[in-house]
Amino acid sequence: MKIICIGRNYADHAKELGNEVPTEPVIFMKPDSAVFRQRDAFYIPDWTNDVHYEAEIVVRINRLGKKIEAKFASKYYAEFTVGIDFTARDVQQKLKSKGLPWEKAKGFDQSAVLGDFLPVSAYDLDNLSFELHKNGELVQQGNTKLMLNSIPQIVEHCSQYFTLKIGDLIFTGTPAGVGPVAVGDELQGYVQGKKVLHVKIR
Ligand code: ZN
Repeated sequence: MKIICIGRNYADHAKELGNEVPTEPVIFMKPDSAVFRQRDAFYIPDWTNDVHYEAEIVVRINRLGKKIEAKFASKYYAEFTVGIDFTARDVQQKLKSKGLPWEKAKGFDQSAVLGDFLPVSAYDLDNLSFELHKNGELVQQGNTKLMLNSIPQIVEHCSQYFTLKIGDLIFTGTPAGVGPVAVGDELQGYVQGKKVLHVKIR
């Protein structure tokens, strides 16, 4: 199983980090060991002082496919949720400034948090609102209609390079409002007002 992540897929988030709005999807990956199913607390690694939350819509691939056209993409996922792409921002900035790959900052253990999955058939994935709350306060608010690349376009693009397999996950990018977590924080994720994710930071 692999985890494909899309970077800078919302213009407001690209701007807040001082990045250019990309002309094609920015892709990176996390290993399967990064999966965190929110049954335990998230422990901040001892090698970073600046872990940021990034709330994102995540789809789970349920059919093998390669070179999938966007118009057929919705046949390749039946479930989605809100996830968190935890990012060691200090390590990422250091690696980025040297032009090095981001894996250590993005793919570490527990960095791919998954909420409870929901059926795609019951929602409109082109107009899906989602939120992240930190300690009960709204910190991120997004809607898939604001994505630079829609979920079908992401599936089309990724599958030109990587065969998609059953169980693969795609993190579709985060809106503005990313920020740090501290020991004792609690994060809660919502989609269309329904709570699907709860993480305690230790
Ligand atoms: Zn992200």
